[in-house]
Amino acid sequence: MNNSKRKTVIAGNWKMNMTPNEGVAFVNELKSLVKDKNNCEIVICVPDVDIPTVSEALKGSNIKLGAQNAHWELKGAFTGETSVNMLKEYNVGYVIIGHSERRQFFGEINNSVNMRLKTIIESGLKAIVCVGELITERELGITTEIVSLQTKVALHDITAEQMKNVIIAYEPVWAIGTGKTATADEADRVNGIIRNVISDLYGENTAESTTIQYGGSMNAANAVELLSKVNVDGGLIGGASLKALDFTAIVDAAQ
Ligand code: PEP
Repeated sequence: MNNSKRKTVIAGNWKMNMTPNEGVAFVNELKSLVKDKNNCEIVICVPDVDIPTVSEALKGSNIKLGAQNAHWELKGAFTGETSVNMLKEYNVGYVIIGHSERRQFFGEINNSVNMRLKTIIESGLKAIVCVGELITERELGITTEIVSLQTKVALHDITAEQMKNVIIAYEPVWAIGTGKTATADEADRVNGIIRNVISDLYGENTAESTTIQYGGSMNAANAVELLSKVNVDGGLIGGASLKALDFTAIVDAAQ
């Protein structure tokens, strides 16, 4: 990470785990564990139904609240979806979009990621945009092409000014929830490729100030090495974000 140029962001993704009450109990533990850790932004992205109780529990803490998706329209006939205005009423500050599980199970495509991103940014929220290759794509040697394409389409029509509210998370799909982590050098290399794409689109300054996280089985044991890399500006963490001590150890690794 390069703290002089960009913010380090450690974000937990609870996925479909924790009921509203479990979420509050977890947050009450986490709040005291991380209360003095101010060298990185700490975010937890929770299921929509947990947002009201967790939002209340986070008041006055240094942990920011995130959601795991948001629709591109502000309201209307979109059964099962959540709008940015609904999220904003509960002090949600971040929204994950384009997660590989959304792409794999819920038909998310690069164009819909871009539509969501525009609405999220226009509403004043920050977005964590996930990109990453499948194992078959890695084996075909097309990781660069895949992450470049995903990044370019996601950022279509987003301005350099709006990039201040965009975080990219490089998440190789084969590393998510599998216990297999990209080596620190490989995470650094691919994050560097994404930074080059941003540089081509917006110039060097924007590229150097954009936070690019790594995600994929990041844990207390490998976080120090991953986060020591110049292009790895934080982590998007699934499994290890469900254990307060493990998540705190990753926050410590970013200090
Ligand atoms: C994720 O869900 O974004 C993720 C990286 O999960 P895990 O840390 O469990 O691999």
